[in-house]
Amino acid sequence: MYHERAECGNLAKLLEQLGADLEQYQRFEHPDAMCNEDSWKTALGGALPEHGIGCAQLIADMGQYLIPNGSQIPKPGCTSFITTGATSAGVLAALSANVAAPQRVGLTAFNYLEEVSLQWMAEMFGLPAAMKGVYSSGGSVANLVALGAARQWAFERLGINVAEEGIQKPCRVYASSACHRTIHRAAAVLGMGRSAVVEIANDENGRLCPKALRQQLQVDANNACVAVAVVANVGTTDTGAIDPLREIGNIAAEFNIWFHIDGAYGLPGILDPRIKHLYDGLLLADSVIVDPHKWLGAPVGIGATYVRDRSILNRAFSQGAADYLEGSFTDNNIQSSMDSMGIPYHDFGVELSAPPRGTVVWALIREIGKTGFQQRICRHNDMARLVADLAHKHPSLEVVQEPTLSICCFRYVSQRAQNLNDLNRKIHRQLVQNAHNIPSTTIINGKLVIRPCFVGARTTEQHARELVDEVIATGDKLLENC
Ligand SMILES: *Cc1c(COP(=O)(O)O)cnc(C)c1O
Repeated sequence: MYHERAECGNLAKLLEQLGADLEQYQRFEHPDAMCNEDSWKTALGGALPEHGIGCAQLIADMGQYLIPNGSQIPKPGCTSFITTGATSAGVLAALSANVAAPQRVGLTAFNYLEEVSLQWMAEMFGLPAAMKGVYSSGGSVANLVALGAARQWAFERLGINVAEEGIQKPCRVYASSACHRTIHRAAAVLGMGRSAVVEIANDENGRLCPKALRQQLQVDANNACVAVAVVANVGTTDTGAIDPLREIGNIAAEFNIWFHIDGAYGLPGILDPRIKHLYDGLLLADSVIVDPHKWLGAPVGIGATYVRDRSILNRAFSQGAADYLEGSFTDNNIQSSMDSMGIPYHDFGVELSAPPRGTVVWALIREIGKTGFQQRICRHNDMARLVADLAHKHPSLEVVQEPTLSICCFRYVSQRAQNLNDLNRKIHRQLVQNAHNIPSTTIINGKLVIRPCFVGARTTEQHARELVDEVIATGDKLLENC
C-alpha cells in the first residue's frame, strides 16, 4: 500500500510507540552508532523514495534503526559537551509547542510564556530587574544578537545608524583569550571581522586580566577604531573560569564601552551560594547571555540574550515593515489571538519564524523550581570538586586547574611517561571507545588535560568517581604496555 497523504493526527497511538523506543534508548544499553554503521545506513538511506511507507512504518523504522543509533551525549557518564541530554519536561513542552503553537507570535498562552520565562530566568540568575530578553537558537546567535546591540549603540553615539548604513569605521571587541570562538564569528557576521576581536591576556587561572584590558584600551584610545564591546565570561568553556566582573565592568564604564557578559554555560552557577560572590559586578552588564540548553537541560536550540533596553535590539535588528505581516493585524479592539503578534520578538533578533522556546524554559522551571536548579548546580559543582579531591590524593593524577564551576581539568602523570600529552590523549581515546565515561580534553598552558564538565541531569556523584577510577586504570595499563 502506498501512503501519499501525510498522517495529521493519531498522536496518542504513535507517541505510545515512540515513547517506548525513546525510553529504551534512555537505558543506554545499546552499542555505539558506529558499531553497526552499515546496517542503519542501508535501512535509513538509499534512493529517493518514490512512494511513501506511511507513518506507522516510519515510526517502526525510527524505533529500530534511528533512535538506537543516536548520540552518546545524553548518557549520564558523558561529560564532554556542555549541551546535554534534555530532561522530559523540556522534550514534552517542545513537542506541545510543535503541535499547538508552531510560532512564538500571536496572543497565545505559548507567546505569554516567552516573557514569563525570560523574567523568571532573569530573576533566578540575579540580572538587573529592568533587563529584557529574547530567545534564539543558542549561545552562538545569543552572542551575535548581544554584539549587534553593542555595535548599534557604539555607532549611534557617532551619529551613525549602523543597521541602516553599515559599518563605517573599523571596530574593536575586547575579550579574553579564553572567550568562546562564537564571539569571533559574531564579529565576522556583523561585518566587523574576526580580527576586530582583540584578545586580552588571562591570569594563571584563566581569568581576564583587568590590568591588561586597561592598558590595551589606553593604547587604543586615540586610534581610529570604534570600541564596540568589552566581553567577559562567567564560566569559560575550557575551564569554567569566571572573569572579575566588577573590575572589568568598571573599566568598560570608564571608557564608555558596552559591557557584554557571556554566561552561556556558567550564569546559572550564581545559584551556588559558595561561589555567588564571583558574580559580583553582574549588574554592570549591558548585555548578558545564557543557554537554557546547557545547565538547565533544555532540548538543544535555546539560548537567551538580555539587554537593558530592548529598543536597541529593535533598532539593530528590525526586519522592516512587510505588508503580508503588519497588514494582517490590528491595534484596536483586539479580540482574537490572531489580531496581534504580541511582543515583537522577531524584531529583536535574526529570526522571524521561531518556535515558542519560552514554553520549554517555563516547563523546566515550573517542574523543579529555583530550588531544584540550585540543588542540581551545587551537585554538579560538588562533582568537579570531588574529582579534584580524588586527583589531589592520588599520586598518578594532577589537578591542572582547580574547579570554579562544574569543570575539573586534570591529567594522569607518571615519571615513566615520555610525553604526558600523548599519554593523556591516549587515555582519553580509550575512554571514548569504552563509552562509559566520556569527558573531553583541552589544553591548559601547554598541558593536555582530561576535562569533564558535569551538567547532565542524569549524572551522579558515582559517575564522577568512576571517571577518576577509569582514568587511573587506563593510564596504568597504557604504561604497562609501553
Ligand atoms: C556553549 C557556549 C557558547 C556557544 O553556544 P551554543 O549554544 O553552542 O551556540 C558560547 N559561549 C560559551 C561560554 C559557551 O560555553
